[in-house]
Amino acid sequence: MKESVLRVARKPRPKIRISPYAWAKLLYLRDAGATEIGGFGISAPGEPLLVVDVELVTQTADWASVVFDDAAVADYYDRQVEQGRTPSEFGRIWVHTHPGSSPQPSATDEETFARAFGGCQWAVMLIVARGGASYARLAFGVGPGGSWEIPVEIDYDMPFAAADRAAWQAEYDACVQARSPLLDDQELEEFDSARLWPRENAWCEDGYDAVFEQSV
Ligand SMILES: [Zn+2]
Repeated sequence: MKESVLRVARKPRPKIRISPYAWAKLLYLRDAGATEIGGFGISAPGEPLLVVDVELVTQTADWASVVFDDAAVADYYDRQVEQGRTPSEFGRIWVHTHPGSSPQPSATDEETFARAFGGCQWAVMLIVARGGASYARLAFGVGPGGSWEIPVEIDYDMPFAAADRAAWQAEYDACVQARSPLLDDQELEEFDSARLWPRENAWCEDGYDAVFEQSV
């Protein structure tokens, strides 16, 4: 009796895995300038929590925030769909960096995550700080909902593409514009998350993702 109780025990806890290629690119982009940068993690087909690439969208950034250009977000969406990906493969993992040493989400991050992704079946907020620490949280927006901090793991067991610093730098140059001058405290206060993500739940436009259920 005891044994069968133990056997039913628990499913492995979800974690987010990142390919060495995607991780190297993310760190490169993080260190390419003085500001935060933000983008999306792209998942391997059928493995929503395995990030195999990271893509930037056009944005204006400073040390504490990133504003995505609305048209660029739409372009990113269209480009990914053209490549045959579904929103659950390219629009659920919001990635950004923190120039300091803390990867903990700010109040603005929390608001943004709730507002832009709250209507999605699931979403992940992934933050990597310049100091090297990382943070990830998985949230479910439907059913009973809920949100859990999950481990971040670089998966060195998988095959991965070689680093392409020239292409990464070109992507950075094309997408990231540092705001100048940086916001003062007053401006920062007025700078609410509504301006970061003009389209509410822009990423929740596909249906229920059964694949994800199986994977976690
Ligand atoms: Zn942040």
